[in-house]
Amino acid sequence: AAAASPHSTVGAASGDSRHFKGGALQIRDVRMAYGELDVLKGVDLDIAAGTVTCIIGPSGSGKSTLLRCMNRLVEPKGGDIRLDGESILVMKPEKLRRRVGMVFQHFNLFPDHTALENVMLALTKIKKMPRQKARRVAEARLTDVGLAARGDHRPASLSGGQQQRVAIARALAMDPEVILFDEVTSALDPELVKGVLDLMATLGRQGMTMAVVTHEMGFARRVADQVVFMDEGRIVEAGSPQQIFDNPQSERLKRFLAEVL
Ligand code: ADP
Ligand code: MG
Repeated sequence: AAAASPHSTVGAASGDSRHFKGGALQIRDVRMAYGELDVLKGVDLDIAAGTVTCIIGPSGSGKSTLLRCMNRLVEPKGGDIRLDGESILVMKPEKLRRRVGMVFQHFNLFPDHTALENVMLALTKIKKMPRQKARRVAEARLTDVGLAARGDHRPASLSGGQQQRVAIARALAMDPEVILFDEVTSALDPELVKGVLDLMATLGRQGMTMAVVTHEMGFARRVADQVVFMDEGRIVEAGSPQQIFDNPQSERLKRFLAEVL
């Protein structure tokens, strides 16, 4: 179809046959401070192309800041981050944010625009896509997230879970190589969480590279290729879900798991 992009797409309609071309991230000695407060104290992390990395850890440990460094919503004070070998620190932020999408806890949809328009706006404003084409792509991405019939609804008339799926459709519309998810189910009513997590699991299966900050330990165990435990601005442990959840090494991770599991 004319609207199809080279590395989409998801959803029941398209089956599981298509595959994303996820990018690889290499994070080296990344440091970040807010004023005097050192928030990231030298983070090293590899995220292989097409894999899901879940980042867990106590509040204030620097998880959101690390994600924000990955698309330069904040600028690291030191170290390097490479996307498929290319340093993101020298890329134009607008270009970078097309390649590295982000989904937030509070959706950040425009309340006065419909779901379809919210997805289209990213395409017409950032990708400079003509409206007709943007409409076709936006409709396809809303179909992918199971909201084909909700395109003309404003956010306020959608459930939180549907709003979050619109936000994911908006991120997907950019054809990113990586998507960052920052506690995207934390603001949802419990019965709406599963639909969003299932969609994320599907994206992961289809080869999207994903970095997911989450408190959903079940999701991390089930879906993650790699789990990273952060505390006080550092990665304390990283490994497979089995290693992290069944065989934690550090006292800090054991204490954290005892509190959250
Ligand atoms: P997490 O996502 O793990 O809860 P954050 O990355 O949000 O952690 O925050 C790490 C630390 O940085 C915390 O101590 C937090 O208070 C501080 N912090 C976060 N954002 C800002 C900001 N914009 N200005 C000043 N301090 C901040
Ligand atoms: Mg956070």
